[in-house]
Amino acid sequence: MGKERVYNFSAGPSMLPLEVLERAGSEITNYEGSGMSVMEMSHRSKVFQKIFDDTQAKFRRLFHVPDGYHILFLQGGASTQFAAAPMNLIGSTGKADYAVTGNFSSIAYKEAKKYGAIHLAASSEDRNHTYIPAQDQLELDPEASYFYYCANNTIYGTEWQYVPDTGRVPIVCDMSSDILSRPVDVSKYGVIFAGAQKNMAPAGLTVVIVKKELAGRELPYTPLMLSYKTMIDKDSMYNTPPCWCIYMLGLVLDWLEEKGGVEGMEAIKHGKARMLYDTIDASRLFTCAVEKDSRSDMNVVFRTASEELDAKFVKESVDAGFTNLKGHRSVGGMRASIYNAMPVEGVEKLCDFIRAFDKNN
Ligand SMILES: *Cc1c(COP(=O)(O)O)cnc(C)c1O
Repeated sequence: MGKERVYNFSAGPSMLPLEVLERAGSEITNYEGSGMSVMEMSHRSKVFQKIFDDTQAKFRRLFHVPDGYHILFLQGGASTQFAAAPMNLIGSTGKADYAVTGNFSSIAYKEAKKYGAIHLAASSEDRNHTYIPAQDQLELDPEASYFYYCANNTIYGTEWQYVPDTGRVPIVCDMSSDILSRPVDVSKYGVIFAGAQKNMAPAGLTVVIVKKELAGRELPYTPLMLSYKTMIDKDSMYNTPPCWCIYMLGLVLDWLEEKGGVEGMEAIKHGKARMLYDTIDASRLFTCAVEKDSRSDMNVVFRTASEELDAKFVKESVDAGFTNLKGHRSVGGMRASIYNAMPVEGVEKLCDFIRAFDKNN
């Protein structure tokens, strides 16, 4: 066999808990005596229906999703929701507010413009997306059909530390890269969506949480597959759902529960991020450009003053058993994505490595 498992700091798809992978492996050819893999069974079978129902119930319980909300398990990735959100929601007034704080909210903003009058309620572009706008910097339109933001900016390493107060305007939030890392008051939101491949499951599943009263307002040309109402009426099974990923999410949720749920995870992930930021801030060579009160606990971006030294760091980190520490091409430098499944030990070892590199260069 090849090398041991590495500490994988990929921004997504990213690490899954080893216990989850081992359990999936042990069940891969014969799930609970069914004589087949979850990958091979009908999505209409009793065995799969139970996996689906249990996963949905676990998600509701652990993420504290109130009764007035549907939990959908869809395909298409978070990016499909960039179109689905306006198509389903903008019909009320024809207008929506967007906060653009990084790459994915910028794409969502451009996509939404095809469907209505989209107002830029806030942007952090003036300081290269190194901060999150404060509440009093949001230019909110009380007639907006919804307010849109991205909770954690995966590429720029910033994270909203508050939920915007938008009055009666529903909030739509892309939580792809920080869902399940901390408790969320779901009742403050209209729609929450997240691609699974950062913090939940393998790529191929998108979790969409929709407040009941917001469904059924889609624009007339909305594809059936993008209509919240279709998917709510069919409990995500209008067509074949991403069965394997839903099963994997169930296993991840069991693992999360053992860690104390999102409350337990919040303490763990915050400890990991603190350790890493403290190490960077205390170093001679490394800096993090993100303003302190906007730093992400999930994606830590940092760099030296020289591109050559950054490249040397990345190269040596691979030899030391870490992978995917190279920053996104649009930002450069380094990025350590430390989602739920990254063990504390992985971050401790990375900090040791950073300190040693700092001393020797
Ligand atoms: C990765 C990511 C996306 C894109 O997700 P896909 O599932 O690939 O469409 C969108 N938003 C955020 C915040 C992300 O981190």
